[in-house]
Amino acid sequence: MSDLPLLTWVLVVAALVTGILAGHFGWGKRWPGSLGKLHPDYLTGLDYLVTEQPDRALDMFLKLMDANADTIETHFALGSLYRRRGEVERAIRIHQNLLARDALAPEHREQALLALAQDNLRAGLLDRAEGLLLEVSEVPRLRASALDALRGVYERQHDWQQALGVYRRLARIEAAPAPTVAAHYLCELATLAIERGDAAGARQLLREARAEAAPFPRAALLRAQIAEQAGELKLSVGLLRQALTELPQLLQDELPHLLRLVGPGARDGVLAELVSQAEAHDFDALKRLVFAAIAAGLVDAAPLRAPIAKVFSEDAALQAVWSAGAAQYERVAHEIGALLAQAEKYRCNECGFAGRSFYWHCPACHSWDSLQAYAIVKLR
Ligand SMILES: [Zn+2]
Repeated sequence: MSDLPLLTWVLVVAALVTGILAGHFGWGKRWPGSLGKLHPDYLTGLDYLVTEQPDRALDMFLKLMDANADTIETHFALGSLYRRRGEVERAIRIHQNLLARDALAPEHREQALLALAQDNLRAGLLDRAEGLLLEVSEVPRLRASALDALRGVYERQHDWQQALGVYRRLARIEAAPAPTVAAHYLCELATLAIERGDAAGARQLLREARAEAAPFPRAALLRAQIAEQAGELKLSVGLLRQALTELPQLLQDELPHLLRLVGPGARDGVLAELVSQAEAHDFDALKRLVFAAIAAGLVDAAPLRAPIAKVFSEDAALQAVWSAGAAQYERVAHEIGALLAQAEKYRCNECGFAGRSFYWHCPACHSWDSLQAYAIVKLR
């Protein structure tokens, strides 16, 4: 987190200098003729900052800026900078320092409460963040920001009902995120309903999810799970294939599941259909299918031999491996399969988080639908 662009630091130091000078000498007055007239504490503070003693620098600045009200925006800029760097304790100190002032204007107090709530959310202190955000959401000017952060609190608590409630409040003031977010909340609730054996409740929630966003492959996947549990195998297979068509990157995890459902007798027929479907789409679709099949240990399946040869011989990255060992199809395919089994399969395109499991909700940055099939991207 220490790789903040130098420019940002320069801007903040410039803001601090301006803020302190303004506070120290008063706006509209003449600037000092030389640095020699600056308050000695300011120079000491700047020295701590440049010699990388951020806590001592912060002590100094807070002490200095306590004395005047012209530096409030600088407080907010510095607090937000510390939070973005992940130095949440320093951000909290700055915002608490502001709130401790008796003479703080109401609008600055509200802004400081919102900033403190965001600090607490970032620090994982969810109860404190929730209390502050509920208070700030009463202020019309800050309502959208407060409710959006509150949605984040409930997401992290896995309180999907409350998250959905806040989403609806945001929708009423036209500040809600994409409808797929509400559909995900409904799918989370449907998952809980399935776990407690309430299939009818789960189906109702999935209908509501599809009303929010369609097509919505996650809802098809969960509906397939309900059908499978009820012994409706044909329906389950149809829904699973629908989900795979809508979101092909699910193939990596769901192809073995699909083949288990159809049984060994129908395996090659289904694979042949998937191959012709992918071929009708594009080369990337075929490649995705081939990698999912290799990872699932299907190298020897008859319908896949020609597609595997096609992908290996036409792909820029794999061509060299393939041409060196074309006579040893099985060996090369198994080696690539072993590589794929070890690889991190998914990566978040928002924050770069990578892992071997698929998540609808990035565990690192909490974005929805941001994980992409990574091994395929890497080998492309
Ligand atoms: Zn992420």
